[in-house]
Amino acid sequence: MKIPILIKNATIINEGKIFVADVLIEDEIIKGIGNFPIASDYKVIDAKGKYLFPGIIDAHVHFRQPGFTNKGNIETESKAAIAGGITSYLEMPNTSPNVLTQFLLEQKFEYAAKSSFANYSFFMGIGSNNLHMAVRTDLKNVCGISDDGINFQISGNLISEKAEYLEKVFSECKGILAIHSEDDPMIERNSKLFKEKYNEQIPVECHPLIRTEEYCLIATKKAIVLAEKYNTRLHILHLSTAKETELFRNDIPLSEKKITTEVCIHHLWFCDDDYKTLGAKIKWNPAIKTKADRDGLWKALLDDRIDLIVTDHAPHTIEEKGGHYLKCPSGAPMVQHSLIAMLEFYHQGKITLEKIAEKMCHNPALLYKIINRGFIREGYCADLILIDLNSPNTVSKDNILYKCGWSPFEGQTFQSKITHTFVNGNLVYGNGNFPPFIPGQRLTFYTQK
Ligand SMILES: [Zn+2]
Repeated sequence: MKIPILIKNATIINEGKIFVADVLIEDEIIKGIGNFPIASDYKVIDAKGKYLFPGIIDAHVHFRQPGFTNKGNIETESKAAIAGGITSYLEMPNTSPNVLTQFLLEQKFEYAAKSSFANYSFFMGIGSNNLHMAVRTDLKNVCGISDDGINFQISGNLISEKAEYLEKVFSECKGILAIHSEDDPMIERNSKLFKEKYNEQIPVECHPLIRTEEYCLIATKKAIVLAEKYNTRLHILHLSTAKETELFRNDIPLSEKKITTEVCIHHLWFCDDDYKTLGAKIKWNPAIKTKADRDGLWKALLDDRIDLIVTDHAPHTIEEKGGHYLKCPSGAPMVQHSLIAMLEFYHQGKITLEKIAEKMCHNPALLYKIINRGFIREGYCADLILIDLNSPNTVSKDNILYKCGWSPFEGQTFQSKITHTFVNGNLVYGNGNFPPFIPGQRLTFYTQK
């Protein structure tokens, strides 16, 4: 048996409550929450004045392995993730080759078993001709099916224009179908117009004018119509507009919802004014839009029409991000800074600690039906993080852990610091140090109704 760990006098944030208690970890499990005497064989961590959260479950990341390991890999990005308080992640299928077969999917689990610092699952990809493969996904061992980054688009073959196939995808996919919701044919047509106007030198500020609010709204409406028709368990990825928030419900609990959604840190933090200073560093798909969109997303997050906060962590090299608009890929790294960014909003009075735990820890576990994680409960896996809310630190090249070595937050001072991260009862990150590597575990799931 491993040495039991006693976290003493932590301020615990869990299930809508804040209270001071000890947490005892034995082997991989939370053995007890309460008041425990210190035994001589315990490793004791004094958590007085610190906040103990369940580990963050980031339900939307791109770790780039295989195929784009110049940008990042499972080892480097999961290491950055645990330093950011993320103890589990769900990774998207647009690695190279795209994850369109069960063989390629299992290969990613093999890479992760060898090199992931955090617990993991990988989405099966759905493209324009692999539905027969996607429906074979084992939903007890895989988080869901997604088109993210594949965008239903393979070498110009737009599945959103193949109405019959799309209907089949919605009717035959079991489990969660997680959709990147922007109207691709309309975006293609619109970007052609901008190319003609600017002769390839399109300013990055035009990004939300090319990938517009309207195209998000049209695609999301269409997906919801199909999901309602076929009773599909639909999850709309990275909501970016105020208008779309009106399509989601908060009159029923998350456990009863058949249609759910999420918001990314960057859509809560940035708005289109920031293109002036940050340029292509904040080029994401869907685009960062107006202040009014950001306000609308905040409102829907706080009134529970939006269920999750995620990162869409998507590293690219700084050289790639430096190219002109059409060449510069969309996406940026986020996992190391997502929680401390949300805690900054807590310091500003925009969100409570309990709500942050709900949207980043509890709800991802409930939405994806992840077994025994996402809460501080006896018998649950000991995925935990300790936070000092008053330890200011500034993001700089020296402390960025992403393989790509940059962040859109460079120069930003955050008030809070993650001091300890426990994954499956192991202290995997403590006060800036990483003990010898202990692999994370494959997540398992209750199957969706
Ligand atoms: Zn994504």
